[in-house]
Parts: sequence; structure tokens; C-alpha cells
Amino acid sequence: MEADNVMEAEVLVVGGGTAGCLAALAAAEEGAKVVLLESDSALGGVATRGGIHRYYYGSPGGLQDLIDRRTEEIAKLFGGRTMGFHPEAKRVALALLCSEHGVQVYLDSVVYQVLMEKNDVVGVLALAPSGPLRIQAHTTIDCTGNGSLARMAGAKLQYGRDLDGVYHNYSLIPRRLRDGQIGYDNLDAGWVDPYDPWDVSRAFTRGREWIREGYSQGHRYFGISSMLGVREGGRIVGDSTISIRDYIEDVPSEDIISRSYSHLDNHGFDTGNESEFSQLWIAVLGLFVKGLWCDIPYGSLLPQGIGSLLVGGRSLSADRDVSMGVRMQKDMHKVGEAAGVAAALSARKDCLPRDLDIGMLQKRLVARHVIEVEDLQRTAGRNLAFRHGALAGLRESDAASYGASDLVPYLETEERWKAIWLLSRLGGDERELAVAMLADKLEAGAREVRFCAAVVLAMLGSDAAVPYLLRVIAEKSPDKLSNHHKCVPFWIASFVLLRMLRSPAGVGEALGALQHNGISSAYATFLLDYLSVVTPSLPEADQSEVSATLQAWSEDPRLGSDYLMHGERLESLQWSLKLRAEAIVTACGGEPGSGTDVIGEAHEPRAYVRGAASRLLPKAGKPENEGDEGPERGGGDASLGRFDAAVIGGTVAGVVCAAELSRRGYSVVLVERSASLLTELTRSRQTCFMPSSAPQAGQPDENPLMRSLLEEGAIAGGELEPVLAQLAADRLLEESGANVLYEARVLETSESSAEEGRGAILRIVHKNGTGYLEASRVYVMDDENVQSGSPACDNRRVLTATLLGVRIEQEISLAAQGEAGELELRLRPSFYAGEAYLDIGWRPSEPASGGEEAAAVVVAMRELRASGVISEEAALAYLADVPRSSATDPSGSVAMERDYAEQDWFRRQLDAGIRTARIGK
Ligand SMILES: Cc1cc2nc3c(=O)[nH]c(=O)nc-3n(C[C@H](O)[C@H](O)[C@H](O)COP(=O)(O)OP(=O)(O)OC[C@H]3O[C@@H](n4cnc5c(N)ncnc54)[C@H](O)[C@@H]3O)c2cc1C
Repeated sequence: MEADNVMEAEVLVVGGGTAGCLAALAAAEEGAKVVLLESDSALGGVATRGGIHRYYYGSPGGLQDLIDRRTEEIAKLFGGRTMGFHPEAKRVALALLCSEHGVQVYLDSVVYQVLMEKNDVVGVLALAPSGPLRIQAHTTIDCTGNGSLARMAGAKLQYGRDLDGVYHNYSLIPRRLRDGQIGYDNLDAGWVDPYDPWDVSRAFTRGREWIREGYSQGHRYFGISSMLGVREGGRIVGDSTISIRDYIEDVPSEDIISRSYSHLDNHGFDTGNESEFSQLWIAVLGLFVKGLWCDIPYGSLLPQGIGSLLVGGRSLSADRDVSMGVRMQKDMHKVGEAAGVAAALSARKDCLPRDLDIGMLQKRLVARHVIEVEDLQRTAGRNLAFRHGALAGLRESDAASYGASDLVPYLETEERWKAIWLLSRLGGDERELAVAMLADKLEAGAREVRFCAAVVLAMLGSDAAVPYLLRVIAEKSPDKLSNHHKCVPFWIASFVLLRMLRSPAGVGEALGALQHNGISSAYATFLLDYLSVVTPSLPEADQSEVSATLQAWSEDPRLGSDYLMHGERLESLQWSLKLRAEAIVTACGGEPGSGTDVIGEAHEPRAYVRGAASRLLPKAGKPENEGDEGPERGGGDASLGRFDAAVIGGTVAGVVCAAELSRRGYSVVLVERSASLLTELTRSRQTCFMPSSAPQAGQPDENPLMRSLLEEGAIAGGELEPVLAQLAADRLLEESGANVLYEARVLETSESSAEEGRGAILRIVHKNGTGYLEASRVYVMDDENVQSGSPACDNRRVLTATLLGVRIEQEISLAAQGEAGELELRLRPSFYAGEAYLDIGWRPSEPASGGEEAAAVVVAMRELRASGVISEEAALAYLADVPRSSATDPSGSVAMERDYAEQDWFRRQLDAGIRTARIGK
């Protein structure tokens, strides 16, 4: 479909999240004409829309000071205490700053294709609410978090962990009141392949199941994030890549553009599925929380072989282990800012970003305090600096002058890991001396010191540690090197060390532990990893024994069911344990067994499991996700399935229609542009309707959605509770068997070439490109369609905020003067006592910008406080995901939403859903 709307920019930023907003602001400050495209309906990404409103580690500097200051000022007006920063204040601050900087922001606009000239990205196609947009730009910055643009451009990417391509757990975050503070629950919900639209859809539904559980424990949630909390996606293969050695030793980079500070945050307990280095660092040494500094080189933002494209955010080029640490919000702010400056300079100099004079870029970054002059002059790293004892002040550059006899005594001190690291890097005679001294240490002394000696021996590749390690395993020593819950006991850690030594001496013990010990799933990952490395070198008879034991072990139906996610929630790891066992069995020449059955090849619905299977079991075919090629340019269309019926739009009528069609035996897909259902009510907080819409007491309602809402407790009197309503709609569709494809928009519909000569092909746009659905019948039930059946709309907009600590019985209306005209304010009671909804109505100029919306919220809160309508204690806890359009009513008041109710709008929508499904369209 051709885009009518064509625009030009010097710098185009795709993704208005953590990195993207700073990239856009910085590029504008450097004088570029900037366009920012964001698929969500507000700015801020993970911090504001993903619900994670707290900095964790990360390094200071650059524009983030300004953003934090502005956020704090607005947060004072909003009131209340927040865990970390106020997410809605940050959302508003970012919108205001973009508006003040002249950044042209397009919200709700998803980029689905890149425009290329040879190997250069020259623009993108995006789908906005008004239709397709074509934006041409001198330089484009991919701030999608997942490297989606780089991927569409055909750049090389690496995906997930090396073993099986699986990513760290995702969360779907609800916001709640915690100890009087506006906080959030970081609910790890499982794994997801962020490129697979069906996997993403499943993840939203699964994530909300945890939220339902929270409700059952009495929590009060204000809202559910509109964005999935995806911790990692693909990483580009850049002109340079940050290696694990660069990271641990903080090796200075000549083309440094930023610094990062964090730790190897693997966010799971199946550390045996991670790299050998991660196992050593996190599980053996217990260094999970050890903060590490690291340089970010400019080359890590430049996708190899692609011109005019920079990457900002967490998809920069780094080893997998490094990427666990280089992703915190503060660090991503600065990476975004550096990318923005580089893009603006490239546009000004009319050169490719890769041809930019690095000295000039660094000079600008120093002036902006993204980096400091000392960062450019640094010759040694910070990570190994000893604070105490005789090694205080040690720098890597001095390490060569330390020998084995200097370092071995430091195994007895608290900062023994540094001695371990330095010892492991000794060469020549010093290495020989170290091996001899450490072998002596194994025999006597404190248990930790002996174990540390074994660790270093394993790192140095010396078998001298093997007999000691076998003794530790036989004793099942429960000691650990750290109290951290990710650190494992010596006997499990010993398998990691035997793995490093490629010693099969522990195979019998590993099999015994799996068979008889009732070992946890998390520990089993270490043993399987060990077995997978050493089994191929065993004699055939021993391999058969390994094979037979693992086959029997993996038949246990309880396998993996004890696995705890972060936050102590159970989520079965069976898929992983079975696949790994199966991989070892087939490598030993054994028959494929139940592991292959579990993945069921084509029938396994979870994309991350299919991806893992294709990496671990070569016979399962080419890895889906392996990265040296990437998809075709422009993201070749993939089939998303074939259905009897496609319902477009998860509105009240759409949900009822999909459920009814499914109940009548049709295979149904509901295509929803956002992350949840009943969008016109729940996302916009249009939650009131007349009691006549509600069923009479004691009379069961005939409409399935109404029944589901009542069962979920989502309706009281004439009010609907938006979070519970989302859960109710999920439940209805799940029970009726309808499929829901979230974050999917229809680009175009065309006649199907299906044999029976009817039906349609729907071209679907999602965050990573396009796909297509085939459906015999299509039912359009989206917002626009629903609204056209309502009173005529004008362009008035209404944004609703949830206010805490406000007690009102009756609606209160007042007016305020905003910058762009008069605001209409209305406070109305909400579902919960002591809370109210604030409707803020205004008439935006065209095209609507997030800046006007943000300014309206600030004026509204200031007015309410100044006029004493709300008290000091009142707090704005939540802004609706989207403003809604409001219809004209004779008085021109925003109170018109009540009119919908009075006309029994809600009941009519419920009925329309059923009627449409029965009669068809
Ligand atoms: C669950 C979770 C918990 C975390 N906890 C913390 C923490 O406590 N503290 C901390 O500092 N860090 C934390 N992090 C890490 C940190 O928040 C992220 O790594 C960081 O925010 C990523 O920034 P980004 O700009 O790369 O991506 P994002 O902030 O995700 O921004 C990407 C943006 O691109 C948009 N986008 C994507 N595709 C398209 C497209 N095709 N078209 C248009 N727009 C698109 C998205 O909608 C999004 O707004 C956490 C991360 C997660 C997921």
C-alpha cells in the first residue's frame, strides 16, 4: 500500500523509548530536523510504558539530568510517593521536552519496513492511525530495543544465549500502591521470542494470568503495562563488539562514546544454560551483583555492512554475557544520546555515520557530559581496583608485575575474586609456579580457599584439581563462595569446573545425582551442560549408559515443574531439560525420544521452544533465529495462519463477536492493535455506563462478556474496573477458544486466491515487519467502526487520570486555560472509594502532538491544586494509555461520555457483537 503522507527528516529516530527519546532530543539540540516514531501511544518505553520506573545501576551524565529534574518537578505537582521516579511524570516530561525541542513526534506509529538504496537505509514506512507514512531521512537511528530496523535492513544480528537462542525472562508489569507508594510488581512470567507475533500475544495473556493471581491476594492495581517487558532481543554485529574481556577488565576503547556500569544480570536460575563464563562468574564465584564499568565504543552502534543506520539502546553489538550488563536505563539513555549526536553530525557533514570524525564526536560528547575528558585519557580499567590491603590501588597495567606468590595469599581475603582473575591470566613460569602453589593449597586450609585454588586451577586448565573436585562432589559439600542465591554449592560448582577442564571423571556422579538425588531443575541445568560437553569423548559403552539414564530421567512427568522464576513463581522448565537431554542422547547416537515429541516439530506453539529445538537438535532443521543472515530486506511476509473468521478490533463488540463465532465452532482470530482487549473502555478509561446496562440482581446475563465481567468482579453499579475488565475479556476468549493476535494492525485486505474463491488475505503490520493472515470471513469491529455508530465525533480529545486520595460523591466540573485553548476538567468517582477519575478535555491542533496532551495534564493538575478541589495528599497514579475522541454534545462539555451510557451504548455494543457473529457482515 502506498503511503500518501511523505515526510523528510535529517535524523529519523524509530522507537521513543529509553534510548530513543534521548537520541531525538540530542539530535535536535545539535541542530537537526528530527522525526521520532513510536508504536506505543506515549513516550518512554520500558520506564514509563513497560512500568519499570526505577533506575538500577547505570552511570550518570548527559541529558538524563535534565530529564530527571523535569520529571521531579512534574512529579511534585502530581503528588504522592513513588518507588523510583514517577512514571507518568516522566512520560509527560519527555513529551514536553520533545515538543520544546521541535522534535516531530508520531505516536501510535509502527515502522514495518526500511527503505534502502544499495546498503544504505534512506527511510522507513510506518503505519500511523491516519494511514501509512513514508519518511525519508539522511540518518536513521534504530532505538527499537530489539534491533528491529537493523534486522529489516538485512543486518547481521545475534539472538539470545549461545546454547539455544533463548532470551532472558520477560515481565508484564502492573502498577500498584505498595506501602503508600506508587510501585510496581516485576512479575517474571516466562520466556518469549520478541520477534514472533504469536509468542508475543501469548506472553501478554500469560503475563496477565500472574496479575490475576496478584488480585486474588488482595492487591489493587491501577493498570497493566501497555508494553511487554522484554529484557533482551537481538544484538547487531557491529563494526566493533564489546567482548567479555573488555567488560570484566574495563579495557579502554579508543572510540569510546559512553560508559556503562552494571553487573551480569542473567535474571534466571537456569544458569547452566548460560555460557561457561557466566556459570563461573555467577554460579561458582557468586559475583552476580559485582558492579562493573565498561566503555561503549562507537563501532558497537554501527551495524556491519549497513550505511546511514545507527543503533541506540540495548541491541548494540556486544557478546551475550556483556549484554546482560549493558542494558540499564541510565546507560541506555547515554547510548541514545550519543547516537543522536552522531546522527546529527553525520547529517550536518553529509557523511555516513561510520565516516564521521570520531574526535569531533567525542568532543561534543565531552561537552554534553556523556563522557568526561578522563574517559578519553584512561589507560587502565576500574573494575580490578583493590580498595583494601596490600593490593590497594592495583591496576591491570600493574598486574604483570605481580607474580603467583604475590597473588595466591589474596585468595584468603574478601576480594579473592580479583586474585583469582589475575592468577588465571598468568603465563610462562609464573603460571607453572601458580599451579604448584595452588595444588598445595588444595590439601589443607579453609574450605573456601581450597575451593578457590581449584577454581584457578580449572581456569588455568590444570587437571591437578580433578581428584579434589571429585571428593567435593562425593561429599555433596553445601558450602558456597557467596551467600547470593544464584551462587551454587561447591558440589554443583565442581561440575562447572570439570566442564571447563573437559574432564569426564564426574560423569557417573552426574548421572547418579540426576537419577537419585531429586535434584532441582536449576541444578540439573549444570549437570546436563557438563554431560553435553564431556559425553562425546566417552567410549561407546559409557555413552550408551548416559543415553539410557537420560532417556529414563526425562520420562518423569514432573520434570522441570519445580523451576522458580525471579519472584518465586513456578514456571515449568521441562521444555529445556527435555531438549538438552534429547540433544545429548542423539549426540550419543541414541534414538530421538520424548524430547522430540515434546517439541512436536511444527505443532509446538511456543516460538522460543521451536527456536531452541532447532539449535539443540540439528535434525529439527535450520535454526529459526540464528543470526548471521537475518530475514530478507523489508521483512518478508510470513504466514500467521488461516482461519474461518478474522475479527478486527478487540472492542466490546469485537470480543463478543469473536467469542460467539468461536462458540459456534469456527476457527477465529481476533486482531488487536494494542496489548489488551476492550480497548475503548480499558485503555481510555471510559468506564462508566448506566446501571440499566448491568444485569438485574439474581438474573444471569445472557451476554457472555457481561457474564465474564461479573464473574471477574469487574462491574459495580454503573462502573467498570479497567484492569479486571481486561482479565475478564482474556478469560472469555481463552474459554471460547478464540485466538488473539496482539500488537497487530491491518495494513490492507485483499481477496484471497483460495480455491473456494472467497475469503480474504489480511496484510498485518507488527513491530518487526509484516505477515499475513487468511480468513474466510472478516468482521471489522475496531474503534473507528464502533465510534461511527455513535454520535458524530469532533476532534476534541479527553485524557483520563486516576487520582488517589480524592473523596467525591458527585462529579465536579471546571474549566482551565491551557496554552492551546480552554481545558474542560471533570472529576468523577471511580470504582474504588477514595479514588477518582479526572477527565481532561481539550481540542488539539492538527496533527495532534504528545506535547499538547502533556501540557494539558500539567495545567489540569496545577488548576485542581490551586483551586483547592483536590487536597495536598491527592496523587495522580495513572494516566490512561490513550486519549479518546469525544463526541459533540449540545453543551460542548466533556461530560458527554455519560451520554453514551444514557443511550445504553454499552448494552448495544454487547448485543452488536452477538448479532454480527450470527448474521455476518
Ligand atoms: C522487565 C524489565 C525490568 C528491568 N528492570 C530495570 C531496572 O530496574 N532498572 C534499570 O535501569 N533497567 C531495567 N531494565 C532494563 C532497561 O529498562 C532496558 O534495557 C532499557 O530500558 C532498554 O531501552 P531501549 O531504549 O533499548 O528500549 P525500550 O525502552 O524498550 O524502547 C524501545 C521503543 O521502541 C518502540 N518500538 C519497537 N519497535 C518499534 C517499531 N517497529 N516502530 C516504532 N516503534 C517501535 C517500543 O514501543 C519502545 O517504546 C529492565 C528491563 C525489563 C524489560
